[in-house]
Amino acid sequence: MALNSVRDVDVLIAGAGPTGLALAVDLARRGISARLVEQADRLFPGSRGKGLQPRTLEVLDDLGVIDAVLAFGGPYPLMMSWQDDRRLGEWDLLERFAPTPRAPYGEVWMLTQWRTQEILHERLRELGGVVEFGITLTGITQDGDGVDAALSFPDGTAGTVRARYLVAADGGRSAGRRALGVGMTGETIDPHPILIADLLLGGIDRDHWHVWPKAEGGTVMLCPLAGTDHFQLLAQYTDTGPDGSVEGVRALVGARTPIGGEQVREVLWSSVFHPSAAMADRFRVGRVFLAGDAAHIHSPAGGQGLNTSVQDAYNLGWKLGQVLRHGADAGLLDSYEEERLPIAADVLGISTRLHGATRDGDDTAARQRGTDTHGLELHYRGGPLTRELRADALPDGTLPDAAPRAGDRAPDAPLAGGGRLFDLFRGPHFTLLALGTAHVPPGIPADLVHAHRIDDTPEHGASGAHAAYGDGLFLVRPDGYIGLATRDPADVPAYVARFTDRPCGELGHDRP
Ligand SMILES: Cc1cc2nc3c(=O)[nH]c(=O)nc-3n(C[C@H](O)[C@H](O)[C@H](O)COP(=O)(O)OP(=O)(O)OC[C@H]3O[C@@H](n4cnc5c(N)ncnc54)[C@H](O)[C@@H]3O)c2cc1C
Repeated sequence: MALNSVRDVDVLIAGAGPTGLALAVDLARRGISARLVEQADRLFPGSRGKGLQPRTLEVLDDLGVIDAVLAFGGPYPLMMSWQDDRRLGEWDLLERFAPTPRAPYGEVWMLTQWRTQEILHERLRELGGVVEFGITLTGITQDGDGVDAALSFPDGTAGTVRARYLVAADGGRSAGRRALGVGMTGETIDPHPILIADLLLGGIDRDHWHVWPKAEGGTVMLCPLAGTDHFQLLAQYTDTGPDGSVEGVRALVGARTPIGGEQVREVLWSSVFHPSAAMADRFRVGRVFLAGDAAHIHSPAGGQGLNTSVQDAYNLGWKLGQVLRHGADAGLLDSYEEERLPIAADVLGISTRLHGATRDGDDTAARQRGTDTHGLELHYRGGPLTRELRADALPDGTLPDAAPRAGDRAPDAPLAGGGRLFDLFRGPHFTLLALGTAHVPPGIPADLVHAHRIDDTPEHGASGAHAAYGDGLFLVRPDGYIGLATRDPADVPAYVARFTDRPCGELGHDRP
């Protein structure tokens, strides 16, 4: 097929960054016809977003790429603070957590952004998808039935693709967002530009993330990148302008660190950025969605940008799947902005706080990378798809504090006979768990919902599923959040009906 063929499609995705690739993988495994266009002629080559948070690792596990992510990445090393040529001592940027039966990934995992993208790209190809390189989204018009996306092609020609939905995953300067006229509210959170570069560098150990916080001219950091023999350089410039050439980086390393400039063998990639924090005023206009950096821009501090972006894609993918594949009412798509915008705002607060603390030299707060950055506690309680119907849980009508509620991330747990709950969740379906005294109601459609009665073995005790969830029926959404928690089997088909065009009666019990 010629690249500039004008072919109608269900979903057009603009931008093959982490967001666009994750969404394309999710749609491909759902059998949705999608095109992914990317203005560059290859995938992004830099290490940039190198920290994958535990929640994102769970998402990547579900998308079928966790083995590669674990094989090519590694844990974060300890930090080493320096003053000139003196090592001041090592410290840990992270509060470390071991995996638990509820959360198999305990801490942030280092994987260069280019490798994350390569892995997702490979998965997309495995599923029969492609990235169409060299194609730029230049304009958008839409009507009640679809979107006309104006594209420019590598041979200089222009064309229009008609799609039922368009997802602008085209980064912080999003052409999609501008075409929609959606405003971005935010601020530059640091007056000084920062140079980021990937280097081949000798003369220093790879066991630490080295930092010269008080170097003349601005802080310098050198992080050995897991799974490669590269270092990521981050250098702030308080007086001069950044220079990402080999000579510029050699001069910087020579002047601000005890490593001789000649130790810089190669600059593989470099870029300059002004840390900023900003949010789009809306994440959706009609049939067009903004996702990832197109919708929110974070400071690198706290490693949240890529993570939030992939989770946007994961929230949107299954909803598009239900509408396009299972005939769900298109109103379901309203929940994308309703769920993701508040999360993005909260996460932006975290990354901006961490950036400010680092910038202002507040050691205590700046060093704090605790569970609030892991993404495991993000939830959609109170969201439009959340039904918590177990009002009888305790005598006072509340639920135990530690028990997950509808809207929370569905925790993992080991299963009797081997395996774990996450094995049951993996894939594009909903999962119904019947625990304790609850039983799976009849007639649940197996193509939509995988239903399981879970009996813990005694040895699992406090780590088992029953201990984790409590008694009842739990309907876990395809993106791993508890949508419905109830004790009444009749609530299940009524809830599931929202995600398909099949009448409630065909889904099991009729509601009285
Ligand atoms: C220095 C730095 C360090 C960072 N560290 C971290 C970290 O540790 N952890 C973390 O989570 N995040 C981090 N981030 C943020 C992370 O890199 C971004 O949040 C992430 O890349 C967003 O992914 P995206 O797919 O939304 O956008 P992008 O990665 O920007 O991808 C957008 C894609 O769209 C393409 N495109 C643009 N315009 C068009 C168009 N008109 N038509 C077609 N294609 C188009 C672009 O070429 C690009 O490939 C860091 C960012 C920086 C700058």
